[in-house]
Amino acid sequence: MNKISSRMAAVLPSASSAASARARELKAAGRDIINLSVGEPDFDTPEHVIRAASEAMSAGKTRYTNVDGTPELKAAVIRKFKDENGLDFAANQIVVGTGAKQVIFNVLLATLDAGDEVIIPAPHWVSYPDMVRIAEGTPVVVECRAEDGFKLSAATLKAAITEKTRWLVINSPCNPTGAVYGEADLRALADVLLEHPQVGILSDDIYEHVVFGETSFHSIAAVEPRLLERTVAVNGVSKAYCMTGWRLGYGGGPAEVMREVRKLQSQSTSCASSISQAGALAALEGPQDHLESHRAVYRRRRDLVLPKLVEAGLTCEAPEGAFYILAGCHDFLGKTSAAGTKIEDDADFTRVILEEGEVAMVPGTAFGAPGYVRLSFAVDDARLMEAASRIAKICSALR
Ligand code: PLP
Repeated sequence: MNKISSRMAAVLPSASSAASARARELKAAGRDIINLSVGEPDFDTPEHVIRAASEAMSAGKTRYTNVDGTPELKAAVIRKFKDENGLDFAANQIVVGTGAKQVIFNVLLATLDAGDEVIIPAPHWVSYPDMVRIAEGTPVVVECRAEDGFKLSAATLKAAITEKTRWLVINSPCNPTGAVYGEADLRALADVLLEHPQVGILSDDIYEHVVFGETSFHSIAAVEPRLLERTVAVNGVSKAYCMTGWRLGYGGGPAEVMREVRKLQSQSTSCASSISQAGALAALEGPQDHLESHRAVYRRRRDLVLPKLVEAGLTCEAPEGAFYILAGCHDFLGKTSAAGTKIEDDADFTRVILEEGEVAMVPGTAFGAPGYVRLSFAVDDARLMEAASRIAKICSALR
């Protein structure tokens, strides 16, 4: 039997991947499952992006590229950061990787030693704590209250910082809460961070373009330029350009950090796919009008489904960005389903809704939000409304 490292013993598989896998399994067995567990747009990749990738293949761009990305894509990323986010990066500060996920992972692996702390505001994306653990750091999960819009306050940040803090993760718009940090929120956090020069900022901006207008997207390093020298801004084409399967993300940050990220990549993946890079170049440089039309569709779906969930007895607020609703199932804990399953926690609730109602969601515990479930509204209107009816039917049968 092969030995498994002690490093991996503390790591959990991604809960959202596990929920999606279970939904696919039931679907394959013939069940009519509506899958609200996945974190991806249901729109197709824009046609001009597909064409650019196809042309790249025909033109022989099928070989390894530079480890940190093609010069053309890196130039486009530099322009994007400058024009859209007000961030100035030079070419040696940019790395293109296999998804934002890999860039975040590499930054943590390149910078953490055992015992180094990473502040993760909760509810949080499922992967941050486990990535920190793989890098042998210590995740410091800090609870952000529903009353505060699930946003980290300056006082909570201040209380969480120690001499060992290496990073603060900011994810705005946030998966799973949809919280968007406005300029004033970021200003307040920046004032605390200015007092603690040992703390870097890992800004996961992957949902930047999915904001519904109440609060617009800002990068903390643009709000406080003195933080730029210790901020890594991470982004990618998965969500904005409907390219989750292309696996293409990028980061801009301090040259010494990005040099190590580049080194890691040179010893692991070599580079992101040359074909995906050609597609990403077309995405960043091409027409952007789909961003507004997709936003409008997401907003409409949010407004369609939210009242139905509230009516069903779930507790939820309208998310300001991303395409998820974090819904509280507190009122159903302690109840029993029609098929006789006792609901002790959010995992049980999710299981009952899946097995008896054929709707897949992800338990909130995986996001540091026990008592909640996360559902995606990146699903067509009819299926979304059908899912809401099924959830309501199961909830009304709980005793
Ligand atoms: N960050 C957050 C908050 C996400 O929700 C996701 C994907 O679900 C990612 C990063 C990963 O994005 P990518 O597909 O670019 O790896």
